Order: sequence, then C-alpha cells, then structure tokens
Amino acid sequence: MKESCDILVIGCGPAGLSAAGYASRAGYDTLALDAAAPGGQLMFIDQIENYPGSESVSGAELAQKMEEQASGFNAQIEYSEVHEIKKEGDTFIAITSDGEIKARAVILAMGARHRKLEVEGEDTYEGRGVSYCATCDGPFFRGKDVVVVGGGDTALTDAYYLSRLCSKVYLVHRRTQFRAQKALQDRVLEKDNIEIVTPHTVTRINGDGNAVTSVTLDDGSQIPCQGVFIFTGIVPNSDSVRSFVACDPNGFIITDDRMRTNLSGVFAAGDVRTTAFRQVVTACSDGAVAAHMADEYLSQ
Ligand SMILES: Cc1cc2nc3c(=O)[nH]c(=O)nc-3n(C[C@H](O)[C@H](O)[C@H](O)COP(=O)(O)OP(=O)(O)OC[C@H]3O[C@@H](n4cnc5c(N)ncnc54)[C@H](O)[C@@H]3O)c2cc1C
Repeated sequence: MKESCDILVIGCGPAGLSAAGYASRAGYDTLALDAAAPGGQLMFIDQIENYPGSESVSGAELAQKMEEQASGFNAQIEYSEVHEIKKEGDTFIAITSDGEIKARAVILAMGARHRKLEVEGEDTYEGRGVSYCATCDGPFFRGKDVVVVGGGDTALTDAYYLSRLCSKVYLVHRRTQFRAQKALQDRVLEKDNIEIVTPHTVTRINGDGNAVTSVTLDDGSQIPCQGVFIFTGIVPNSDSVRSFVACDPNGFIITDDRMRTNLSGVFAAGDVRTTAFRQVVTACSDGAVAAHMADEYLSQ
C-alpha cells in the first residue's frame, strides 16, 4: 500500500466511493481505505428502489459499479482499517492496520450502523421482514401489517409514514411515555390504523423460515405481522476520530453544509456526520461536496 497521497478517504461506502471518484477525477492522488469490502451498508441491501436513475438495483451491484467508476478515475481502493489520525504541521497521518499513511487532506466517510434489538430471529429475518429503514423498505410492505419498535422521533415519524402504506402498524415501546416530540405523538395517536402497545418489549421475531410471521412480546403474547421495523438508534463508526474532530454527544461528526469539520483540511461525508437524512443518494452527494471542498482547500 502507498505511504502518502493527496487525499485520503476513510470508508468506501457510497459517500467514500463518491468522494474518491470526484477527488481522483479532479487529478488528485487519492487513496480510499475500507476495513471491509467496498460498498458499506450497500452490501446489506437486497434491492434499492430510490436511487435516482435506476428503477431497482441490488446493493451489491450498485457498490460494484461505484467502485469500478472510482477506480476508473484512478482512485486507489485498498483494504485497511484506520485506527487513529493525527496532524503534524500541514500533514495528516493515519495509523492503519497496515502502517502509516500521510495525506494532505482527509475525508471521513466511515458510515454508521443500526442499533440492534439483539433478540432471537432478528438476524435470521433481516432483509426478509426485519428492517431498520422505513423509507427504504416501507413500500415492500404495502397493504400488510407491521410492528414498529421504538419511542423516539424516528420511530414515531416512521410509524406515521408506514401507516400511509400498511394496513396496520403496531407501535411497541418499552415505556408508557414516548421520547418523541409532542407534535409527532399527537399525529400518531390520531391515526386509526396505528395501535400503541406499551409498556412492552419484543422478545422474539418469529417466521416460517422465509419471512417474518409474528413477534413475541415480554408478556408471552404474539402480534401477527409481515414486517418489523426497528428504530432503537443509529451508531456512527467514529470511534477512531472522536478525539481528533468535533462530534455531537452521540458521536456523529459535526460539519457545516460544505462538509467541513472543525479541523481545516478534514471533511466528513455520509452517515457518519450530523445530518437530517441518511440515504445512499445523500451520502453520494456529501461525498461529492467533500471532495470539491478538499480540492478548494488544497488549491489555496
Ligand atoms: C438494510 C439497509 C437497507 C437500506 N436501504 C436503503 C435504500 O433502500 N435506499 C437508500 O437510499 N438507503 C438505504 N440504506 C441506507 C444507506 O445504505 C446508507 O445511508 C449509506 O450506505 C451510507 O453511506 P456511507 O458511505 O455514509 O456509509 P456506509 O455505507 O456505512 O459505509 C461506511 C464504510 O466505512 C467503513 N469503515 C468504517 N470505519 C472504518 C475505519 N475505521 N477504517 C476503514 N473503514 C472504515 C465501513 O466498513 C463501511 O464500508 C439502507 C441501509 C441498510 C443497513
């Protein structure tokens, strides 16, 4: 692996691959690293229906196309985990599982992961009824019964969104009070096809081997359903940089609308940053802006 580059991109999900493509196309010596296979969360998506320009595409296929496009512009994509970044003078030094890399600018695109319920059946039926994203998967459950788990803003917003598509939405929350804003709670309570199930937890997700058929609650009762949407939080992959750049209390990297962090020359893009909406298209957009701003920074 090379020891230095102009722009170092950390993470090769949609944000990182988009950034790497834009940066290398602009003529910068660009190295993009990923601790796993390039594609990030794309690799867990069966079909994406809301990426502009393609009616439906598998996550793996889209990831491959993004990787090929970035490589085609001469971005170097390597397998390596970044453990820490430090700054010496104008140079950034990334400590990776394969040694040190020097860079003139850095784009942080390490993404995020959904907090799991950690119950039996969750992993078995992920992508076959268990989902962590209503915008992504809601339309697959049109006319069906679903369970939503959670009590915060995302859970209630998405329960409301799903109530417009699904026959019935059961909103399961472990407390009697919701954390979500009052206005959201009022909106949800007004919907005839949302049933509030509190204070209860889901202890098991049941299925027939192919798809979800019901959930079991802590009192032993079951709710028949075809989908389970889990909104118990999202965790940014920012451990390696929390002492390096400013993060919000949940660990999301704080940027302005030009993807600039508090540290000159360091940019963040995609799910790892504080943002209103986490999708493939928004991650790609962030990556493009970050690469453009890195170009501006290096040209100064
Ligand atoms: C099941 C599922 C379904 C979804 N469906 C849709 C959908 O239909 N439509 C849609 O638009 N969005 C969907 N999303 C959301 C979408 O996938 C994400 O918003 C998008 O992938 C975010 O891109 P990203 O590049 O910011 O991060 P990620 O995709 O999370 O990629 C981050 C990459 O960084 C790497 N990384 C992390 N830490 C390090 C480190 N220290 N060193 C090196 N590499 C590191 C990771 O290995 C990963 O490859 C879905 C997500 C999931 C999980």
